Amino acid sequence: MTDLTDLGIGAIRDGLAAREFSARELTDAYLEAMEATRALNAYVAETPERARAAADESDKRLAAGEARALEGVPIGVKDLFCTEGVHTQAASSILDAFRPTYESTVTANLWADGAVMLGKLNMDEFAMGSSNETSCYGPVVNPWRSADSNADLVPGGSSGGSAAAVAARLCAAAIGTDTGGSIRQPAAFTGTVGIKPTYGRCSRWGIVAFASSLDQAGPITRDVLDAAIMLKSMASVDPADTTSVDRPVPNYEAALERGVKGLRIGIPKEYRMDGMPAAIETVWQQGEAWLREAGATIEEITLPHTQYALPAYYIVAPAEASSNLARYDGVRYGLRAGDGDVTEMYEATRSAGFGKEVKRRVLIGTYVLSAGYYDAYYLRAQRVRALIKRDFDIVFDAGIDAILTPATPTAAFAVASMATASPIEMYLNDIFTVTANMSGHPGIAVPAALTDDGLPLGLQLIGKPFDEEMLFRVGRVLEDAAGHFTPKRWWS
Ligand code: GLN
Repeated sequence: MTDLTDLGIGAIRDGLAAREFSARELTDAYLEAMEATRALNAYVAETPERARAAADESDKRLAAGEARALEGVPIGVKDLFCTEGVHTQAASSILDAFRPTYESTVTANLWADGAVMLGKLNMDEFAMGSSNETSCYGPVVNPWRSADSNADLVPGGSSGGSAAAVAARLCAAAIGTDTGGSIRQPAAFTGTVGIKPTYGRCSRWGIVAFASSLDQAGPITRDVLDAAIMLKSMASVDPADTTSVDRPVPNYEAALERGVKGLRIGIPKEYRMDGMPAAIETVWQQGEAWLREAGATIEEITLPHTQYALPAYYIVAPAEASSNLARYDGVRYGLRAGDGDVTEMYEATRSAGFGKEVKRRVLIGTYVLSAGYYDAYYLRAQRVRALIKRDFDIVFDAGIDAILTPATPTAAFAVASMATASPIEMYLNDIFTVTANMSGHPGIAVPAALTDDGLPLGLQLIGKPFDEEMLFRVGRVLEDAAGHFTPKRWWS
């Protein structure tokens, strides 16, 4: 029999239904793989007892003919989702020993559909980063290695643990969050599929907040089918999050085989950046060719405010973060430091508990929101945001069905290689992804090619609000053309 950890969700569903293996055997196979693969540092907490109990429950359901949509599917959860009674630290020392007393809506939806939690996954601290190097648990190692070197590469971030775990077969699928690119960029760096749905598609309740007007949850999976299955279970309207939207969640799987014949695909000319590596240009053109061959029309489009998206993001996101992170003061949760008065406790706790990147964001955010600067920075950034959204609206109103872009400006880079660079170098990772966060549109990253060094590259599709079906449908055509990408096993 094939290794059970090689099966995606679709194959798990079939195998469990046909009694080829049990949910318990499947979960045990993953727990074993996790134990053997700690060197990647993907998990920050493992929950084997809970996983085995859930798997046994799934086996009972399967025997009784009462299987739910994700019955027995072992998944990993980014450390940003509150899981009741279970380690939840957003990879920050300031949440030291925090155990939430409640469950996030997205994870509650997954458990209600029968998914099995294997543990919590590493990430950048408070989801701030593009390489998983800001985590208080240390970096995650990408299971992919360059053909000519054994150097450790980053898996991207902030959902780096999620992406690495999926690529290394340490869970059948994982969940992450995306504020500026944190699902799509790590998916592209690891040869996996990642979708950031439309803002409001998934509830944000119980997700540790970074920038509330940008944050969205989504899956990272091995293929487009698995992403469609996962999102169906994750999405819901939720009275606890007033920005979640009351629209029926479609059966995404049903959209997968519709093909692209007659669709109009936009290629935004502003995404063709100066100094873009040839490999990125090549994969982008390859994507165009695949869609054209499958019957779509390719059209150049213009999104004129694209160049302002990243600078505006780095005002809006830190502004909201500085406000959201004000609650970590040593009083209510996690770490408490200092032995003086209350002000001294706040200062000592925040100095000791937050890492360097988080402090930088809090400082920037506080600055751009301060009296005298608010209009010059924050208000202007919000206006830019409206213009970016309008760019997309104009293109989609004119009949474009989806927009094709590269997912990232480079392939995965070496751990620590950016340590001495300006933070802006790191921020540039999200140049192609932040636009969809600023506007709220859905975006998917699908693996498309390998570089000459053997590292995965992704393509991104951006769609109309709440038209995730289109992204799965077009993404599936790209996937069929590109094939699947699996790293060579060196880690266990
Ligand atoms: N890399 C971006 C940042 O550091 C986006 C992170 C995210 O999407 N959570 O803010």
